[in-house]
Amino acid sequence: MARAQQSTTEVPRDAARPTRAGRALADGGLAEIALPFVILSLVALTIIPVIIQAGTRRLRSEITDVADPARILVTEAQFALAREMNALRGFLITGDERYLDLYERLLEDEALALRQLAPLTQRLGPEIARRFDELDRAVRSWHDLVVQAGVLERRGIPPGLEREIAFETAVFQQTLAAAARLETAIIGAVQRRRDRISAADTLQLRLTIGLAALALLAVAGVARIGRRLRRLAREAEARRLEVERVVESRARFIRGITHDLKNPLGAADGYAQLLEAGARGELAPGQREWVERLRRSIREALDIIDDVLLLSRAEAGRLEAQPEPVDLPRLVRETVEDHQAAAHSAGLDLRMEPAAGPTQPILTDPGRVRQILGNLLSNAVKYTPEGGRVRVATAVRPGPRELGRAPAAAVAVRDTGPGIPPEAQGRIFEEFTRADSGAAGGAGLGLAISQRLARLLGGIITVESVVGRGSTFTLWLPIREAGAPPVAPGRAA
Ligand code: ADP
Repeated sequence: MARAQQSTTEVPRDAARPTRAGRALADGGLAEIALPFVILSLVALTIIPVIIQAGTRRLRSEITDVADPARILVTEAQFALAREMNALRGFLITGDERYLDLYERLLEDEALALRQLAPLTQRLGPEIARRFDELDRAVRSWHDLVVQAGVLERRGIPPGLEREIAFETAVFQQTLAAAARLETAIIGAVQRRRDRISAADTLQLRLTIGLAALALLAVAGVARIGRRLRRLAREAEARRLEVERVVESRARFIRGITHDLKNPLGAADGYAQLLEAGARGELAPGQREWVERLRRSIREALDIIDDVLLLSRAEAGRLEAQPEPVDLPRLVRETVEDHQAAAHSAGLDLRMEPAAGPTQPILTDPGRVRQILGNLLSNAVKYTPEGGRVRVATAVRPGPRELGRAPAAAVAVRDTGPGIPPEAQGRIFEEFTRADSGAAGGAGLGLAISQRLARLLGGIITVESVVGRGSTFTLWLPIREAGAPPVAPGRAA
């Protein structure tokens, strides 16, 4: 046994593995971050220009649809004003009334230009609207002056040149100046919008370059991680093969050593049996007791050897289950009956509670179920002090998390033994691990084997225990009814 245990530790549970696994995890984590990052960058690269262009579209359209036409209209108004003045001058100099007709037509052109200009200047902001109001007021003042001077009523009257020329007054100059200021303001507004557009274009360019660079970095990172993960996968595969080889050679070693141990132990038991039968004469009472102890020890040793063999077969994936329709409550009852004698001689009250299902036969391996329940019952009998109770209940209940909480057949073995501390409850299913449950002997293999067998059947064993009050070990089995499609025999993991 000592050698078998030693060889267990020889499996290369390589010390470097956690570090590498950690690195692989870190790589996996990085890859998980990097990939979405690449995708986000690509999406951002597509979306950012669209958003920025949408933002500058209004500015561009203000330039092309508002500011540019406004400038043209200002120019038209300036042109009309200049030509109006020329027409008035022509009339005043020549007295030709056709100049007055021309003046009136030009007034209409000017009015039309200003009418069209008004809403455009409103859209270009308060400053431009104010400049337009100034121009409008200046134009009206000048026209009022023309009207007050009575030029238009003087049709046919020859002009008095010196006085009338005074129309080219400061008022007209102010009108032209107001138009020039409006134009300058519009040019300024256009320039400001151009500046904003070019700032947005620059931002877009920088963002595009930045994101593209980051995306490239992320792609390079993902490629590097991919190479590393592939290398780690190759290493893991090599290690798996190595572990498989070691497990196989350990299994071979265990088969050999157990065989070599069983033969002399069997022979020793044979001789002890002969002594017990009086082959060398009747034994004195003290001698008989020692021979009985000798035989008990040999049987225990043989049981441990069988357990080790079973475990090594399970580890090598050589355990198989042969499912068949099984009346579970009946099988449980029979197994409990098999343990009545042991319970009785340990001074325990072992009983089966009325079964609450499954009512139909389930597909499972009866031999394996018997083996598991036998282990749980032996433990209950072994660890429960004299005068205690052991109860076995069979029912269909929602299964544990490991079985996806689906309804499962549950066989619970409840005892009033010493209980198992919470920190030991996980460990007791590991090989050669024992909790401190009193003086009872054992190799710490029974639960490890039982758990493997339970998994082989698609089930699991769970434990609930309170120190000083007792333990409940429950074997959960999936409900595959006999009518269900056949399942391939399982293999131990
Ligand atoms: P063994 O009984 O040979 O030590 P097992 O694998 O069957 O090995 O059990 C592992 C450990 O779990 C035991 O050593 C014991 O400490 C604890 N254990 C198992 N069953 C019970 C029980 N019914 N009551 C208290 N402790 C138990």
